[in-house]
Amino acid sequence: MSVKKIITRFAPSPTGFLHIGGARTALFNYYFAKSLNGEFHLRIEDTDKIRSTKEATNAIIEGLNWLEIKHDGEIVFQSANEEHHIKAAHKLLETQFAYKCYASTEELETLRTEALKTGKSFRSPYRNKKSEQNKPYTIRFRVPDGNTQIKDLVQGSINWDNTNFDDFVLLRADGTPTYMLAVVVDDHNMNITHVVRGDDHLINAGRQAMVYQALGWTIPTWAHLSLIHGPDGKKLSKRHGALSVQEYRDMGYLPSGLKNYLLKLGWAHGNDELFFDEQSITKVFSTKGVNSAPARLDFDKMDYINGQHIMRENDETLLTLLTTIIKSKNEYKLNDTLKKRLLDAMPSLKSRSKNLIDLADQAEYLLLSRPLHFTEKNKKSFHKNGALEHLSALTFKLKCLEEPEWNNDNIQQVIESYLEVKNIGFGRLGQPVRMALTGGRPSPDLSLVLYYLGKNETLLRLQNITDEYKDLIEE
Ligand code: GLU
Repeated sequence: MSVKKIITRFAPSPTGFLHIGGARTALFNYYFAKSLNGEFHLRIEDTDKIRSTKEATNAIIEGLNWLEIKHDGEIVFQSANEEHHIKAAHKLLETQFAYKCYASTEELETLRTEALKTGKSFRSPYRNKKSEQNKPYTIRFRVPDGNTQIKDLVQGSINWDNTNFDDFVLLRADGTPTYMLAVVVDDHNMNITHVVRGDDHLINAGRQAMVYQALGWTIPTWAHLSLIHGPDGKKLSKRHGALSVQEYRDMGYLPSGLKNYLLKLGWAHGNDELFFDEQSITKVFSTKGVNSAPARLDFDKMDYINGQHIMRENDETLLTLLTTIIKSKNEYKLNDTLKKRLLDAMPSLKSRSKNLIDLADQAEYLLLSRPLHFTEKNKKSFHKNGALEHLSALTFKLKCLEEPEWNNDNIQQVIESYLEVKNIGFGRLGQPVRMALTGGRPSPDLSLVLYYLGKNETLLRLQNITDEYKDLIEE
């Protein structure tokens, strides 16, 4: 017996950016399909002609590309399928699962107010009238009596009394299909086996299940994911910080880091490991570990996971990403010497960075041009007891270290033996030397600062200080 191919889809409405909730839905669909050797499709639900824009479509595609979520086949634009939607509505009309509703806007308003008052769902007075009228009409679904039950991979079994559902519109008076109809027809025609989406659509699954049944089509398997909430437990809004995927990119997250975090948001895998790369996710992902409780955004965890990805990322790739950021800031001109310096220092830089913006901050000390500028506060480091003598004496010792011996261990040894001979604590030497070399920018262990700057640059930076502050050196 052949096993049916798993086919999932991401079906965003192009009315705004790809926000992280949407990205998470896309990821779950993608990895669910890929973990079972299935296909993942992209359908742009652009039937709302007023709110759908080309810019939003592009932003969604760009966001997915950045996240490296590749869809199979061509992108489906829902608006191109209108003919099929209309055909399905007419089939429902023929089979009496739908009816023509001639109610005017005013009539509808009165009926709705009444329905609200009585607490009953909306039923049009035209649902049982057979006679045709020469007036504009909508085609409404005739919600049957009884119950509708769905089985959801995340939410379990759900049962609605059909009195909860209004007789919803399938085709508007202008003949255009509604989302409720289009989604069913398209999912059916695209052979979608699993519909994975946010649980704000859970109630729609009830409505759509009735449409499937009425059309005699197989109902797909549903999986409704809990929505992402802010750290305060409230529904996610702009207030909680940047929301679009592009904004996270600009905040310095790596696509792999953001993906890993979004997948872990509400999905637990056995030993609760946090780090997953592309291959391991594809192997272990399943909807079994998906939690039905709302997921809370946790920026510390996001940073931690992203830091893990930065640490494991290839140095050359990071250099390319870093170069783009440095160029965009237009503060430092990168030449081959500086690029090499950054690349050599990358293992140290990346181990100290949670994101690419951090990485750029960590790298700054390597890029400064001589002579460095110091704030009045920072200049104080050079005035502290004997700072300049120590700095100058160390410069002398370092000069004696031959270029090929210029490595972290040897530099460390020079520093330590100096401290020992002078019988002083590290701070008295370390503070002015670090200031002279970094201008107070973030930096790693002192010996590493010297090592990554290289002998020539280190000595020149130190020399600038001993020259400028020579008056402070006691003979
Ligand atoms: N277009 C709908 C939305 O963006 C999603 C529909 C669905 O996944 O069924 O909310």
